Amino acid sequence: MNSNNIYKYLERIGNLLRAEARQAKTTPPLQPVQLEILHYLSLCNQHSDIPAAVTEYLGLTKGTVSQSLSVLEKKGLIEKKPDTDDRRVIHLSLTEKGRSAVDTTLPPELLKQGLARMSHAQRDQLLSGLESLLKAMQNSRGLRPFGVCGSCYHLHTVEEENVCTLTNLPLSSQELEQVCREHKFEPDTSDQVA
Ligand code: SF4
Repeated sequence: MNSNNIYKYLERIGNLLRAEARQAKTTPPLQPVQLEILHYLSLCNQHSDIPAAVTEYLGLTKGTVSQSLSVLEKKGLIEKKPDTDDRRVIHLSLTEKGRSAVDTTLPPELLKQGLARMSHAQRDQLLSGLESLLKAMQNSRGLRPFGVCGSCYHLHTVEEENVCTLTNLPLSSQELEQVCREHKFEPDTSDQVA
């Protein structure tokens, strides 16, 4: 088991990316955690743009998220809108300024430069390994996977029309690519007796 070495590399990469985020020149200037929240909101779908989902996805405390969201709203980077059916639920969205802050800083230039030095095969292998590791770690803690529709149990496709069977809503090609809090992997039937 080479978990020590894997941890060492993941930690070093995480440190480099965090240092890069601290140096990122955004307008207005942002803390790394604020940039991470903006990034999540740039990825997620309409079922996942609520403060509780931000808290779960980033593994932060409710207090940190609530404080960061207030700062981001004051800086004009996000908007808060109550849900049309349940006004206690607040949906978050990026303003144009918020989207621009994400687009100009992420993914970090350092990561892009590093990946450009690797072959296609190496990048594919890395992606596949990281996906498997993330899925295994989330499974072992019972955490939500926050995946996209393509790998979701609730995706139903008939004659090129995509529908979410959880919400019974059609899915546009843009929505298919968005991160969803309700994502569920296919049940694993490999160890069931036929
Ligand atoms: S198909 Fe799955 S990932 Fe897509 S919106 Fe429905 S629950 Fe979310």
